[in-house]
Amino acid sequence: MLFAYTYVPHAMEKMQAFIDFIFFEVWCKAPGNGDFQLELFDANAELKELMLVFNYDDTQGGDFFYRHVERIYGLFAPLPSAQIDQLREWYRANNDIEKVCANDPAVQIARYVDIAAIQPALSRQLASFFKGLYSQQLLDLAALREKIGQIDEHYQAFMQVNTTGKCPFCGLGDIKGVHHTRREAYDHYLPKAHYPFNSINFRNLAPACHECNSTYKLSKDPAHNGAGRRKAFYPYTTVAHGIVITIDLNTPDIDRLTPADIQLTFGPAAVHEEIETWKEVYGIDERYKAKCCDGDAKDWLEQLRILRDAHSITPDAYLATVQQQTVIAPVANCNFLKQAFLEGCQRAGLFDAIAMEGAAP
Ligand SMILES: [Zn+2]
Repeated sequence: MLFAYTYVPHAMEKMQAFIDFIFFEVWCKAPGNGDFQLELFDANAELKELMLVFNYDDTQGGDFFYRHVERIYGLFAPLPSAQIDQLREWYRANNDIEKVCANDPAVQIARYVDIAAIQPALSRQLASFFKGLYSQQLLDLAALREKIGQIDEHYQAFMQVNTTGKCPFCGLGDIKGVHHTRREAYDHYLPKAHYPFNSINFRNLAPACHECNSTYKLSKDPAHNGAGRRKAFYPYTTVAHGIVITIDLNTPDIDRLTPADIQLTFGPAAVHEEIETWKEVYGIDERYKAKCCDGDAKDWLEQLRILRDAHSITPDAYLATVQQQTVIAPVANCNFLKQAFLEGCQRAGLFDAIAMEGAAP
């Protein structure tokens, strides 16, 4: 990804804290702990209050929550302690998103298929619960909203801090900010279709543009490909990686440019594996090449001709300006891609041709 988000703490994190309690203090302690009852929540007064409301709640969301917590307790009860230990380890690993992204060997993550291999019925119930946890129906329940706030409030607080207005995953799409009444969807970076335990963990939730979220990524898994585990960029990393993009063109004929004429190279080599994952998950090659073949790229070149004719500014001088803009604001107006494209045009001999056109009598 082109840049990282700044993580913004918010009351909604309490939902993950509730789930942590349910997992470690209720489910994992189910063996030998008797029947499911509200006293199991005594050590967490707020959650107990919620469970009490949900128990008598006939709305779908409350009933969904309570019945799943109860049913999964029943499925944990007969598990041998070695399996409980394994589940604890998977829960902690799946929620350490930064280490998952780094493919840290100390962190053994689990997908539903992994749990199904030891406990198929449990895997099915966990899938039903964790996929349903991040739903408007549940999060909109008044009793829950009182305690954790609303997702729209989280979005506003998030965008007050993250102000580029661009999608960090592609740099092409706009992201609605504090001046919009609507918001972008949050992407489950480790997809909730594959991973239990982290569907309401805000370290695993990141607003993304519609194209990234709903057209290209879908439920693609940044942590795995067909060959196994892989590294991925962590959306909230505090370590800058500064992706460098080089565009080479096989032809100076921009009017008839096709993706086959374009060669994209990405660096730095230190994050090669993360870059490969990013490109695959978000369709980056296809999207950047298409951008170079569409009207925006032609307009970038038209700008060179206008500046040459109206202001006697050379293509080289204009490129120097774009390079300065890219340093200051890489994702504004696709500067990062515009710079790489114009540099490619320069190497393909287009700048000389444009300067020559201007010099012609
Ligand atoms: Zn995007």
